[in-house]
Amino acid sequence: MSDFPKIIRVESFIISIPRQTPYLGPLGPGEFINDRGYLVRRGNRSIYPSTDMTVLIKVTAEDGTVGWGETYGIIAPNAVTSIIDDVLGPVIVGRDPRDVVVIQEDLYDLMRVRGFFGGFYVDAIAGIDIAIWDLFGKLLGQPVVKLLGGQRALSLPAYVSGLPGSTLEQRVALAQDFQARGFNAFKYHSAVSFDGIVNEMRVLREGLGPAAELMVDLHWKFTAQEAIQLVEQLMPYRPYFVEAPCQPEDIEGQAHVGAHIKVPLALGEEWRTVYEYRPRMERRSMSIIQPEMGHTGLSQFMQICRMANAFHMKVIPHAGPGIGIFQAASLHATAALPNSPMHEYQHSVFDRNLQYLNTRMDCQAGAFVMPQGPGLGIEPAESIWQFLKEKSAS
Ligand code: MG
Repeated sequence: MSDFPKIIRVESFIISIPRQTPYLGPLGPGEFINDRGYLVRRGNRSIYPSTDMTVLIKVTAEDGTVGWGETYGIIAPNAVTSIIDDVLGPVIVGRDPRDVVVIQEDLYDLMRVRGFFGGFYVDAIAGIDIAIWDLFGKLLGQPVVKLLGGQRALSLPAYVSGLPGSTLEQRVALAQDFQARGFNAFKYHSAVSFDGIVNEMRVLREGLGPAAELMVDLHWKFTAQEAIQLVEQLMPYRPYFVEAPCQPEDIEGQAHVGAHIKVPLALGEEWRTVYEYRPRMERRSMSIIQPEMGHTGLSQFMQICRMANAFHMKVIPHAGPGIGIFQAASLHATAALPNSPMHEYQHSVFDRNLQYLNTRMDCQAGAFVMPQGPGLGIEPAESIWQFLKEKSAS
């Protein structure tokens, strides 16, 4: 097997797909799209793109087989592609795709002593890692899930994430429409006001009935004490989990909330490695982790989730905005886990971008349908290239 095909080329692509309504819903008071196409959400003071923007990575082996990866490109995608084209791509030319975990560790080592062990640098590694796993699977003719230790689930329960609508009535109607199609778990994004969050859960509970699972993303908006008080007010409406109450760096606050509320706390969409998860796990800040494949890549994702299992924590992966390749990787990984009851379904991004992919991946009747075939079981369709913004290669 010494002639196993080596990696000969790494390419990166920035894709920008226009959308009519920005991610998270229509523009609010005082919100506008700037010259670079970004908008700042007043509710959580975070910047978002007005298009679906993402970075694709293509890794080619010497026999011509191609692996596809994807990572976050929603803001400053050139930061990620520069790291791939200038640093990471050239380093992995000549490597054996069977060494995918070793390659991920090697790339992480390149910059760690300079303090680059998160952010754009690890996003870039994540995209390459996903592409090499896809390539590895294709070269062996096996689905990635089988290479991750084995497949437990054939389909994965999905929760509906985000109920975009200008009014509460529209949001409840949207949830009821999903319910009629077999979905029964829903998460809404915290409204601007304190009263709005409690009121929205009350109205959703009344509209969706006692069996529905309801969750709220608190978008890092609160101090620990504010969050504890708020969750107390949500208790009559039986939340399944509450998410991200405090600022991402507030390890003490996260632990304090986790210790003082009676609802499972879900955290982790912004953490990229075991080193970012470990201190929160040791403090038992959360009982559900939400790793984001677009930030972690497959190799780190599996390590994080196996570590969570040792802490008796569940995994309900985050579904970030992409065209669907890192989403497919997330389904492969999740299907291999013993501790994942469901996966986020970011319908406003997932549904509309499926048309730009060749895959059998889907989400219907409350569950994800796994992609099929070797590797990740997903390829960019020809139609995606109309949205190509920039291409480069190493
Ligand atoms: Mg979130």
